Amino acid sequence: MDVSKRFLVKPGSKIKLGEWDPGETLGMDRAEAERRLDENAEAIGRLQYRLYAEHTRSLLIILQGMDAAGKDSTVRHVLRYVNPQGVLVTSFKKPTDNELAHDFLWRIHRQTPRKGHIRVFNRSQYEDVLVVRVESLVPEDVWSKRYDLINAFEKNLVEGGTTIIKIYLNISEQRQREKLMRRLTDPDRAWKFEAADFETRKKWPAYMKAYDDVLEKCSTEHAAWHIVPTDKKWFRLFVISQIVRGTLERLNPRLPPLKIEPEAAMRLLDGID
Ligand code: ATP
Ligand code: MG
Repeated sequence: MDVSKRFLVKPGSKIKLGEWDPGETLGMDRAEAERRLDENAEAIGRLQYRLYAEHTRSLLIILQGMDAAGKDSTVRHVLRYVNPQGVLVTSFKKPTDNELAHDFLWRIHRQTPRKGHIRVFNRSQYEDVLVVRVESLVPEDVWSKRYDLINAFEKNLVEGGTTIIKIYLNISEQRQREKLMRRLTDPDRAWKFEAADFETRKKWPAYMKAYDDVLEKCSTEHAAWHIVPTDKKWFRLFVISQIVRGTLERLNPRLPPLKIEPEAAMRLLDGID
């Protein structure tokens, strides 16, 4: 079975996150999922080498999810064998004064991947219809126009040679509670503690409604969303690695041929005219 398709949001379909099980594992066994994650990660490393060398197209991976959904660990595991020279990660935080003095896509566009690169967005333009909506940071007539603006923006990137993978990490409220608790009890994780995460959590239903709209309005033919079950880390990592590998395989980047006749190159090498 193709797990990438299983968790794809078909453009035009109605979405209620309540109907998507965050604990889904499709009956898979953990050891098998971990073995296949490693295989996928190795394949991603090899394909990234070819994408970089080909230098004509790029890949953008957008990760969204509630706090502690596992965005950071996804980057660490799925991209464990890539060459960091061709992969960049951008984490979008609260906009600065300078960023707020421009349109909401200004800071995003500056971070899109150049040819040959993979770029990961840890949070993204979607924050501007998620936290911004839930916290009423701008009026409704401003955020409600952004879905179309985002779709058009992404279309522009795709036309320019970027492939976009959008992943919503679907964590349950209960699992998030356990993971936030771990930040309080495990000294290795204490640095991740943010009181604000506990405040955000109180608005869970409002966030789920905002996510329903994002997943429904912005799953397009050119850039569809995936809703990935996230409560079981090993299943999440397997599924995401499968999606990224499959996408790179479809892109099938090709190593460019030698730009010179081998004999001419040999003469250059030996200094003979
Ligand atoms: P971690 O998992 O390490 O906590 P994080 O992505 O939550 O990572 P933080 O620095 O804790 O990083 O939080 C970033 C905050 O910035 C989030 O609360 C997010 O909602 C907020 N943010 C991002 N983009 C925007 C935006 N456009 N407007 C307002 N807030 C935003
Ligand atoms: Mg945080």
